[in-house]
Amino acid sequence: MSKEKEKTVLITKDGIRHDGRKKEDIREIKFEVGVLDRADGSCLITWGRNKILAAVYGPRELHPKHMQMPDKALIRCEYRMATFSVPERKSPAPKRREREISKILGEALKPAVFDYLYPRSVIDVFIEVIQADGGSRCAAVTAASLAIADAGVPMKDLVAGCAAGILDGQVVLDLDDVEDKEGDGDLPFAYLPHTEEVVLLQSDGVFTQKEYKEALDMLIPACKKIYQMQRDALTTRYSRITEEVKETLDEEKTPAKSKEKKTEPAKKDSKKKTDDKKAKEQPTEKVEKKRLLRKSDKKTLDKKKTSPKEKAEKK
Ligand code: ADP
Repeated sequence: MSKEKEKTVLITKDGIRHDGRKKEDIREIKFEVGVLDRADGSCLITWGRNKILAAVYGPRELHPKHMQMPDKALIRCEYRMATFSVPERKSPAPKRREREISKILGEALKPAVFDYLYPRSVIDVFIEVIQADGGSRCAAVTAASLAIADAGVPMKDLVAGCAAGILDGQVVLDLDDVEDKEGDGDLPFAYLPHTEEVVLLQSDGVFTQKEYKEALDMLIPACKKIYQMQRDALTTRYSRITEEVKETLDEEKTPAKSKEKKTEPAKKDSKKKTDDKKAKEQPTEKVEKKRLLRKSDKKTLDKKKTSPKEKAEKK
């Protein structure tokens, strides 16, 4: 086979890409928040064929102590690709690319967090790429910000990421692995949609001013759309928690209620029975005795009522 035949048609003249998407289409995104029990916060993102897990531990005391900052927390990010995440086995040792992505993701997450609330602490963000298919750093930062929110860390915004690229001279959104490798440029981007801050902007390849502007015009609305999905994922997670808490509270109440219900009729029955018993056991003699007792009580009461003056007169 000749090399020309092997080359995939990345985009047609009408702007249809090799997987059927249009220029501004992003792949399907799914979030699962709170997937890990041991982490303080977690999120699994499925972005096209990318599968990335983000786990957050902290805020917790930072060790070694000389790294502690007296006025804020350190956001420590570790991006790793599993050995099985790419078609050819990847070496487990962290390489330059992973170190670089860890650094830029930590820096992109920092502006979204109220880090001054946790002086001398660290918020550890672990990112594990389980399956990579292009655009993993943008998917990773998007998932990581949800994991931080899931850990209950106060945030001023969520971070939404997406990449743009150039395919045969046309600017497109969200490159997959084929497009990333065979395309002419890649522009990873992350954004705080609420405060409108750009927190990550990298460039691989050459973009003209026009292409760069076109890319940004596509990236910002895309990030705003992703932000809505993030919010929905958090709402789903917390409405589920509220329901679970409600259910457990109801369960705690219900056995007590059922006990009450069970015991109540029993009590009523036993009360009824004792009343019946008493009625049965009350022979006329007893009633008579009671009457006499009442009379004697009356007498004693009368005695008590006589004043000391009267007593003296009697004497
Ligand atoms: P991003 O995933 O953020 O676009 P890159 O542009 O560096 O980051 O990587 C693009 C794709 O290249 C990755 O999603 C992955 O599929 C592939 N890739 C990256 N590193 C390796 C590696 N060490 N071995 C094999 N494939 C890799």
